[in-house]
Amino acid sequence: MMSTPQHADMDQFPVVNNQLQVGGLSLTELAARAGSTPFYVYDRQLISERVRNLRQQLPPAIHLHYAMKANPMPAVVQHLAAQTDGLDVASLGELRVALDTGTAPQNISFAGPGKSQQDLTAAITAGVIINMESMGELERITRIANQTGRRPRVAIRVNPDFELKTSGMKMGGGPKPFGVDAEQVPAMLEQVFARELDFQGFHIFSGSQNLKAEAIIEAQTNTFELAQRLSQHLPGPLGWLNIGGGLGIPYFPGEERLSLQPIADNLQNLLHQYRDSFGGSEVVMELGRYLVAEAGLYVCEVIDRKESRGEVFIVTNGGLHHHLAASGNFGQVIRKNYPVCVGNRVSPLSSEAQEVVSIVGPLCTPLDILASKVMLPNMQPGDLVAVYQSGAYGLTASPLGFLSQPAPVELLC
Ligand SMILES: *Cc1c(COP(=O)(O)O)cnc(C)c1O
Repeated sequence: MMSTPQHADMDQFPVVNNQLQVGGLSLTELAARAGSTPFYVYDRQLISERVRNLRQQLPPAIHLHYAMKANPMPAVVQHLAAQTDGLDVASLGELRVALDTGTAPQNISFAGPGKSQQDLTAAITAGVIINMESMGELERITRIANQTGRRPRVAIRVNPDFELKTSGMKMGGGPKPFGVDAEQVPAMLEQVFARELDFQGFHIFSGSQNLKAEAIIEAQTNTFELAQRLSQHLPGPLGWLNIGGGLGIPYFPGEERLSLQPIADNLQNLLHQYRDSFGGSEVVMELGRYLVAEAGLYVCEVIDRKESRGEVFIVTNGGLHHHLAASGNFGQVIRKNYPVCVGNRVSPLSSEAQEVVSIVGPLCTPLDILASKVMLPNMQPGDLVAVYQSGAYGLTASPLGFLSQPAPVELLC
């Protein structure tokens, strides 16, 4: 018999008295502590463990940065700022939070197309590294430098001449709004060195949510090779090389956790192979999702249960407006379920008490689905639905204003 694909084991949170626990509190207690449902809860200990494990496996020379857009909750950023080597921001709003943590500006980099005059002025005044995404941006930065007498820290974000294979979201290769095409970089470098700019290095990021170690290894190998080629156009050695993030986590049935060891081994080999070129360079890996996603739950409360033509619908007070990704509307081609459970009653009380249900939100749109036809313990109003893998690209990537429902609370426990 063919077995249907299953979700990877969601064993990161303990289950005590049949309730999920985060930071020593049951979900029922957490709902009381939050004061309302729905809420997001992030586990600080799991985040720290993730950083520790990465550090143990990655070569010590690799600097670890947190890409804030995965989860910009200030408390989460503060927690990670204390354990990583720097922060990566993609807006002025994120930059403010990053600077509030006390992270030194030379350890903060600012990427993203379409940086405004205000964005650039703030970044230059603060002294963070600006990852330049175009020639136009170089011109705007130069004008601000001339007006203010400051010497901005800049890097070039390179749109590589290769693609990250099997990535969930491609960010480089082919025509892209991100970065400067690799073939245009030598000409841009001439301009950079003709001006009063403090050139740091290259930022080469090819894609997000990759679960294939071989594909990541290939992309990182290509990244070092490309950086080496581009470095030949520099007057001296490369100071800084940001090789991007993109490590994936399992969301859907059949997906498994990434094995880090081959990736770490390959990085060690690359650092050795290119030691003459990059031996004195700061090599940075900037991770968003991989640091926080598995440490977060989204929790909502059952409001109603109803049957329609033979199917059971569990209607909750949370959904797409808080968690677009779990509803299947953030980059998915075919909708698949995130792992979910009844957080206040993880296992059924008896074997008959399981049923196939669809969990939906309160919005008047058929897109507002949290889980479609899943087998779960029998649920009644007041029960708590927990969505795993919700610590990254959750609230921050959701259309909070849609249907004017209340916002969820966020907790870091
Ligand atoms: C989004 C982003 C990241 C983080 O990607 P993850 O897949 O969350 O690790 C890193 N760098 C840049 C420039 C980004 O835009």
